[in-house]
Amino acid sequence: MGANTRDLIVVGQGAAGLAAALSAAEEVRRRSVRITLIDKASEEEAGGNTRWSPSYMRMAAPDRVEDRFVQSMLAATRHRGDESYFSRLAEDAPATIAWIASHGVEFIQPTYYLAKGPARIQPLGGGPTIVAALSHAAREAGVVFRYGCMAREVAIREGRIVGVVVTRDGSIETIGADAIVLACGGFQANADMMREHFGSGGATMRLISPGTRHNTGDGIRMALALGADRAGDWNGMHAEPIDARAQNSAPVVLVYPYGVVVDQTGRRFFDEGAGLVHETWEKFARDIQFKTPGSVAYAILDSRLLEIADYQRAIRSEVPPFRAGTLAELASLLGVDDKNLCDTIVTYNAACVGDPATFDATCCDGLAAAKTLTPPKSNWARAITVPPFLAYPLVGAVAYTFGGLATDTRARVLRDGAPIPGLYAAGEITGHFHYTAPNAVSVLRAFVFGRIAGQEAVAELSAG
Ligand SMILES: Cc1cc2nc3c(=O)[nH]c(=O)nc-3n(C[C@H](O)[C@H](O)[C@H](O)COP(=O)(O)OP(=O)(O)OC[C@H]3O[C@@H](n4cnc5c(N)ncnc54)[C@H](O)[C@@H]3O)c2cc1C
Repeated sequence: MGANTRDLIVVGQGAAGLAAALSAAEEVRRRSVRITLIDKASEEEAGGNTRWSPSYMRMAAPDRVEDRFVQSMLAATRHRGDESYFSRLAEDAPATIAWIASHGVEFIQPTYYLAKGPARIQPLGGGPTIVAALSHAAREAGVVFRYGCMAREVAIREGRIVGVVVTRDGSIETIGADAIVLACGGFQANADMMREHFGSGGATMRLISPGTRHNTGDGIRMALALGADRAGDWNGMHAEPIDARAQNSAPVVLVYPYGVVVDQTGRRFFDEGAGLVHETWEKFARDIQFKTPGSVAYAILDSRLLEIADYQRAIRSEVPPFRAGTLAELASLLGVDDKNLCDTIVTYNAACVGDPATFDATCCDGLAAAKTLTPPKSNWARAITVPPFLAYPLVGAVAYTFGGLATDTRARVLRDGAPIPGLYAAGEITGHFHYTAPNAVSVLRAFVFGRIAGQEAVAELSAG
């Protein structure tokens, strides 16, 4: 590298950071840009949420998105999302998948939980495989990795980016940088920020995977300190119901539509059959955390669960359910008021007036409870009668937050609507989701805009 070598620092080794570092390294062949990827975690733990994610991606096939992709994205955001962002995502997704595949990652069309949901693809081996493959490729392409290196501040001189201030081995140092890609996730593991945006329940929320705990909003804070614009829904997060007892990563329990859910008092509080699980899990998890006493709920089922084909696919907890011969015994195992639980089930069973032969776990089967039932049950309303009775205690666990930095279609961080020279961001750290997470899009957009960020950063450094 010559005297005019410029430095690009990528912060974060998840999907967005790896895509940025690798695409930048591929762009710079014959140009003088040095690329360093820093991650606050150790080498064994780096990779953030991506490392723990199955990484389903919302594509009809590896070479195309579904026809109404952009409209679906905008509908998920209740039309508060940026159409140009989602259009660029749709345009670049096939080429990005082909690029990842060119680094040895195979894509498959996976089975999902029980019901199908939108079409998706998955890297064989999920997040861990993709992190390993792209890290290897980035190293081969000359990217330098530094672990245990936590970004805390962007260093600025005379209005220009000159470095990243980091903590490493307990001391603070500045790493020189001419451009930075921030790819260090949302603020889900920052109790103060969670409290500020979601209230006290936000600070105590379970984190869905071991990788989630590293995402403490540092990059968001660093960019906001430079005057970056905020974007996305600051009261939005993606959360899912998990087994309260489980210790494994993402121990989701997604069979709740096929029974009922009660709170600690033994009463139902939502329509368990309002839609397919990926349409109800986020609100459900948030309602458990923020609206139920003790922030816990119980999915109550009977032994007919065990007759549903492949029901295990919808349970990722390593702990078996509570099991009892009577509802009263089950209530006592759970510490739930037994009279209320029995009354709830009697009322629910009486409202199950449809033909149980039409029960179909793989789609919204239209088997609704009688209209008199409050709250309603819109699908899968089959009486709970066949012992043993089963129960899972559930809590809401956060995967990532939606509030973040405003970026344009070139992954440039905006300030007063204009790009901040040398500053890029991609992935969870950017604020493009509102109201509810579009299903299977978080990893895809991290790769697509990470790759764009790397290319754009090198182009800017080569020009300036
Ligand atoms: C269990 C689970 C299942 C999921 N399933 C899916 C799915 O199927 N499909 C989908 O689209 N999405 C899914 N998601 C969400 C998706 O995985 C993430 O939103 C996405 O991978 C985020 O990528 P990222 O690069 O933005 O952040 P991450 O992958 O979280 O990477 C961020 C990195 O930044 C590092 N970091 C943080 N702060 C600093 C700092 N100050 N300095 C240096 N480094 C820092 C972290 O250590 C981490 O390595 C899932 C998430 C989880 C946890």
